[in-house]
Amino acid sequence: MRNAFDHPLLAFFYITGDTNPDHAETHYSPRLSVSLGGETKRGCPVCGNPNIPMVSDFSGSRVNLGSSDAKFFPDVLGSPGYLLVSVQVKNDLKEASVQGYRAHRVPVSPGFDFALKGQPIPPYYLLEITGRFDLDRRRFDNFEGQLCPKCHIWLPTKGSKFRYGEKNLFPLLESWNGGDFLVQGNIHSGALYCTKKVADLARAKNWTGFGIKVMSWGCPEGGRADLRFPDWYEDLRRKVLEAFPIINGEIHSPLDELRKRKEEGIAWPYPPPLE
Ligand SMILES: [Zn+2]
Repeated sequence: MRNAFDHPLLAFFYITGDTNPDHAETHYSPRLSVSLGGETKRGCPVCGNPNIPMVSDFSGSRVNLGSSDAKFFPDVLGSPGYLLVSVQVKNDLKEASVQGYRAHRVPVSPGFDFALKGQPIPPYYLLEITGRFDLDRRRFDNFEGQLCPKCHIWLPTKGSKFRYGEKNLFPLLESWNGGDFLVQGNIHSGALYCTKKVADLARAKNWTGFGIKVMSWGCPEGGRADLRFPDWYEDLRRKVLEAFPIINGEIHSPLDELRKRKEEGIAWPYPPPLE
């Protein structure tokens, strides 16, 4: 798979759930809270983490909309771990043979503080993401953190320089199962990803509420793609190749540079100031 992409960081993009600047009003997009179906049992039997749904009954789930300043109902609504899409998007995905999801028609209700309460809520579909790829664990934490083999929750090890955040997120392309919608396989996270195919479709069909950025930290302008422009990919490609050059087969990372400076006694600038 490696040669199919210009760079591993151009294979999969982080779905921001916010919008391209063309739809600035989507800034007021409703927030989402999702409850999976009644049979959902929470809690990992191995590490005891209570926040992990071990049974994911997407078909029996319910969705609640929040936000006291929502102005309209966008095509795409995102929250950590979940993606809700309009009928239009569902049809676009099917027509374009996008892979890596199952769409479930779910009841959507307004929360108590929802600004558009009283307006009819259009039909929405909850996407169960089935695409998978693994992160490069060596570049993520050099195997120093604790990773639960069952629920894949990662915890920092005391004394290690690898803490929450501040880590390289590079995909292992050979682990990709071919999905266009994706979640991390080996390390649990609420992050949702997609391929360029989905981004191109979002642009072509003018979806509201959809945005993407480079998955690892350190790209200029936060690595956000500007989907207004036909050359958005070329623009992002230039930034990725500049910020993360591949030298002797290894991806160079601005984060590693910062870490090295820290080890040399230069103060850790947090949040890192490179953007
Ligand atoms: Zn666990």
